[in-house]
Amino acid sequence: MNSSQCPCGSNQPYSDCCQPFHKGHSLPKTAQQLMRSRYCAFVINDCDYIYATHSPQTRHTVSLAAIKDWNQQCDWLGLQIIEGPQDNQVQNNQFRENKVEFVAWYKQDNALQHHHEVSRFATEFIDDELAKRITAETEKCWYYLDATYPDSAIKMPSRNDKCICNSGKKFKKCCGS
Ligand SMILES: [Zn+2]
Ligand SMILES: [Zn+2]
Repeated sequence: MNSSQCPCGSNQPYSDCCQPFHKGHSLPKTAQQLMRSRYCAFVINDCDYIYATHSPQTRHTVSLAAIKDWNQQCDWLGLQIIEGPQDNQVQNNQFRENKVEFVAWYKQDNALQHHHEVSRFATEFIDDELAKRITAETEKCWYYLDATYPDSAIKMPSRNDKCICNSGKKFKKCCGS
């Protein structure tokens, strides 16, 4: 991966993509932007961002220590967003909800693994946990709510496929070597 490119795979520089969200200068405008920035926070090991962007409604189901522990075991390789009908937004007068399906590739104990998830996101009023790390002046933002895990099989990369890390190289010459 080109070092200036954002680890979320957007093909934009990190400074124009997920960094402003991590630094709290601005907030993701869509569920997918939040999803990408949360994946990217795992890559740069900003576990506090993962915790802070977890919805206050469901944050009690995770702990910062557990997130840090999990992330130490993972060597993140790439993110693949699966576009689909689940991207339809639910909207009522005040709040919005949206889902994003993705596959995150990583190595654990040197073995290639993938995490396939449909994340649910909602706009909510900003709480203290998130407020303490942002300078953006805003009332509501997207939070990660919860997830489901689809059964549909994900094709493992073959040796001659383009690498999952977005390098443009063949898998066998890159993460599969
Ligand atoms: Zn990004
Ligand atoms: Zn690769």
